[in-house]
Amino acid sequence: MSLKLSERSANVKPSSTLAITAKAKELKAAGRDVVGFGAGEPDFNTPANICDAAIKAINDGFTKYTPAGGTIELKKAVSEKFRNFNHLDYSPEQIIISNGGKHALTNIFDALLDPGDEVIIPAPYWLSYPEMVKLSDGKPVFVYSTAATGYKVSAAQIAEKVTDKTKALVLNTPNNPTGMVYSKKELEDIAKLAVEKDFYVVADEMYEALIYTGEEHVSIASLGEEIYKRTITCSGLSKSYAMTGWRVGYAGAPVDITKRMNAMQSHATSNVNSIAQKAAYEALTGPVDEMEKMRLEFDRRRQYMYSRVKEMKHVSCLEPEGAFYVFVDVNKACALSYKGKKIETAAVLAEILLNEFDTAVVPCADFGYPDHIRLSYAISMEQIEKGLDRIEKCLNELA
Ligand code: GLU
Repeated sequence: MSLKLSERSANVKPSSTLAITAKAKELKAAGRDVVGFGAGEPDFNTPANICDAAIKAINDGFTKYTPAGGTIELKKAVSEKFRNFNHLDYSPEQIIISNGGKHALTNIFDALLDPGDEVIIPAPYWLSYPEMVKLSDGKPVFVYSTAATGYKVSAAQIAEKVTDKTKALVLNTPNNPTGMVYSKKELEDIAKLAVEKDFYVVADEMYEALIYTGEEHVSIASLGEEIYKRTITCSGLSKSYAMTGWRVGYAGAPVDITKRMNAMQSHATSNVNSIAQKAAYEALTGPVDEMEKMRLEFDRRRQYMYSRVKEMKHVSCLEPEGAFYVFVDVNKACALSYKGKKIETAAVLAEILLNEFDTAVVPCADFGYPDHIRLSYAISMEQIEKGLDRIEKCLNELA
């Protein structure tokens, strides 16, 4: 048979974060006592009031198609949330409800990019951005950062990468995988550049509710009328409401972009599951105490994990300010060996940790840093303690 599959699909790598999470779950199901630091997924159950709203939706027969871009009720609730939390004025017609943050982002790139358009992606980056950009026929252009600048890039560094093909910049704060948060001043400088050079900003604010420093989350689109016109602000309910499986994300954008996203979504998936939309409505309009409890518990784990990891041999890390990840530099460990086996990359270290120490971590080559690993603290304190003991033991055995 001479039939060939598409070049586009051949160039896409499967998501390694999802693969590692699945592998850890599979090993656990097979009886191994694996600690999984892989998942960017809260261990908490979705709060009861949200689940009850979904059950009520089913019992009320709210089980039919809704408008493709989401119910007006939910869009109004998202509009209110944008106003109160992000200080952003997006009317319901500027909002689209999508199947998780990923779907919102793929819609955005599909709406913005023509073949060959460049998208600047600060590194380290969440591994899905480059793949999404390529799937939309765009070209990812990376800007690298180091621990010295808190793994954040400056407007000047971004400016160096701007060409006449630059269509957009992806900005993710709080950041996955570093947990770092861009300051208002840093965002103002980036906004100024975006307006001056005239490119879009795709603001992925999925972790906006998970900041532990007492600082307020700043949405870049809120920094002026010109940057607002060039920004698509994307978020979702997965992380802050422990709703990963429900698949509810959303975006606010200039209305011409939202219209395009709506048209594409109406053919690709139709609406987000009607029951999940009712649950999302309850999440956004109901009591917030469960959310705050989860945030405080993440903070407790964050502090514990940072205090342990920074004392470990052969590795270093910065204190994360948001999200639920610690980004660990294992470069020195990569120069060593375990039982005679050379480590060389974080991927080999991750393999040793999983096979010999029953501990799953994310090696970060797919995030642009092959000498770093990511540890999620969205797992229980007991699991964190056990897993860190194992990682420490492994590091102590390197020679
Ligand atoms: N965003 C989460 C993570 O980085 C979930 C997995 C994924 O979608 O990649 O772990």
